[in-house]
Amino acid sequence: VVRLGQPEHAVETTCAYCGVGCSFRAEMQGDTVVRMVPSKQGGANEGHSCVKGRFAWGYASHKDRQLQPMIRERITDPWQVVGWDEAIAHTARRFREVQERHGPRSIGGITSSRCTNEEIYAVQKMIRAGFGNNNVDTCARVCHSPTGYGLKQTYGTSAGTQDFKSVDKADVIIVMGANPTAGHPVFASRLKRRVRQGAKLVVIDPRAIDLVKSPHVSADYHLQLQPGTNVAMVNALAHVVVTEGLVKTDFVAQRCDLANFREWADFVGQDRHSPEALESVTGVPAALVRQAARLYATGGNAAIYYGLGVTEHSQGSTTVMGIANLAMATGNVGRDGVGVNPLRGQNNVQGSCDMGSFPHEFSGYREVKDDAVRALFEVVWGRELDAEPGLRIPNMFDQALHGQYKGMFVHGEDIAQSDPNTNHVTAALESLDFLVVQDLFLNETAAYAHVFLPGTSFLEKDGTFTNAERRINRVRPAMAPRTGWHEWQVAAAIATAMGYPMHWQSGADIMAEIARVTPSFKGVSFDRLDKVGSLQWPVTDQAPDGTPIMHVDGFVRGKGNFVLTEFVPTTEQTSRFFPLILTTGRILSQYNVGAQTRRTDNVAWHPEDVLEIHPHDAELRGIACGDMVSLASRMGATSLRAEITERVPQGVVYTTFHHPVTGANVVTTDNSDWATNCPEYKVTAVQVSIANAV
Ligand code: SF4
Repeated sequence: VVRLGQPEHAVETTCAYCGVGCSFRAEMQGDTVVRMVPSKQGGANEGHSCVKGRFAWGYASHKDRQLQPMIRERITDPWQVVGWDEAIAHTARRFREVQERHGPRSIGGITSSRCTNEEIYAVQKMIRAGFGNNNVDTCARVCHSPTGYGLKQTYGTSAGTQDFKSVDKADVIIVMGANPTAGHPVFASRLKRRVRQGAKLVVIDPRAIDLVKSPHVSADYHLQLQPGTNVAMVNALAHVVVTEGLVKTDFVAQRCDLANFREWADFVGQDRHSPEALESVTGVPAALVRQAARLYATGGNAAIYYGLGVTEHSQGSTTVMGIANLAMATGNVGRDGVGVNPLRGQNNVQGSCDMGSFPHEFSGYREVKDDAVRALFEVVWGRELDAEPGLRIPNMFDQALHGQYKGMFVHGEDIAQSDPNTNHVTAALESLDFLVVQDLFLNETAAYAHVFLPGTSFLEKDGTFTNAERRINRVRPAMAPRTGWHEWQVAAAIATAMGYPMHWQSGADIMAEIARVTPSFKGVSFDRLDKVGSLQWPVTDQAPDGTPIMHVDGFVRGKGNFVLTEFVPTTEQTSRFFPLILTTGRILSQYNVGAQTRRTDNVAWHPEDVLEIHPHDAELRGIACGDMVSLASRMGATSLRAEITERVPQGVVYTTFHHPVTGANVVTTDNSDWATNCPEYKVTAVQVSIANAV
């Protein structure tokens, strides 16, 4: 606990937790944070904050921080502390050896959505230009990759349509597969204020989340669907819009591709997509679906906000496109108070996608297969680039197990805890010849690493994060890197040691290069951000001050594209042995795998993951509140404490994965989204049984 005192100086920076991207003033005594004060000038938070941003920064000086590089030959050997020069030379030599033995495409890496745009850009450039292949992916693969795919197919841009302020003008708000109170607290407060002012609220979620009924707001409709039936639900909503004559025909005629609109209208208009026909699939009474659809189509400005409960399914991309279809059909795109709004999880998950972390795209979402785009990068980067898209994260694991992928750089991610089917992931990591982990802490993944490179906390970084509303915020250093090196310097040094020189003087230099090669970042610079505070991309010659709301005069792709969204049930079904469906999520006081929040003493954080189970299911199994229970799936088993609650419906259980001791991802499956391989974290057939009563 830091004793409060008089700050000596202050630094304006950005919270490193969620995709809201709140601005803060870090008040400092020397290198010690005295307090974090939310900034009234912050474009995303306007002086508000949540418990994490305000209090959970102690991890930056936690004793577990590893500040020096370490190497070892085998993962069973003890770590040996070395200097940076030796660590870089060793890393470069080992990566080169793997490539000489197994081929140029046998190595790759993962960028981190916790890091700055500049650090991410540096790592993907190290891989594309230094390693000479496109085997780069991002942890967005396992959260919002369906958003990137779905919104690009329908609207032409892989990002949400609105700024956060837009919700102030919404008359109807649908929250689908998201729990903003826990995941995006400052935005949740704004949304609740709008509901208290009279906006109607529809929650589509298997759990009775806080927004359904709390002391502050209550939803007008809770469509409590069965996990895994999102596509059926959006088709049922669309059926009502089409068959009850609620389509905004002017909007569709002017803004959308009419031929595929008609095809889509015929498709969703079929009787098999009616709320009545789908009632036995979704579990939601048809009358409620009809009322919610009418409200969305006729209630004024209507906005949809969604989260990982939409994307982390075998049909995640299909649901995103179904939502985009609905918004187009009802004319709810391109102005204040409407839109399709993905609530991005990590602080810079938008930025990691923007910066070229996907194996098929350079920064600005331009295909590596496109000769003209590749030629541009070849001129600026000064080397010939691979035209073949690289491996996605799940393919990296599969190819590692087949002996074709042998070396990996994992930047600021704990894939051994965060990715699904942990046993599969760790088997893949064990089969690598060479694994490098860069992180603040010796995390679960580092147990399989041959080199550990220490990373920097947000208090040491000099760069930018991009939040869920495409807002590019400055991250300013409150202290020098405690490791002695910026993370972008590490990537540049590895590439240089491998024979591809990468030299920048500062984060500002890297942003200058990003702006040069990325059309949507034209005119973005640290100087400009220091003057104006923040900018929402696209920042172009036509929109030099940024773009808070997209698709105002037309869709980025030209005509809006309706996509047919056939519902295909997931293959993960219940059985006699696994009769319950597990779905997963987050709590307010912890963050993701908990690496930071578990190492912050300021607040009483929840000390363990718990399993929510309905009273009926608990009684059937003789489980009392607080009992330790076994949670088993076809993939594996773990144990955790039970909480009996009606927040979950009968037949559904729920937990989080903040604590490695639980390791909830031991039970989640390899199923993934058909288009993007985003894992299906939200649907796992499980059995729950009493373990040891405590
Ligand atoms: Fe940080 Fe998100 Fe909380 Fe804002 S809402 S303070 S960005 S965790």
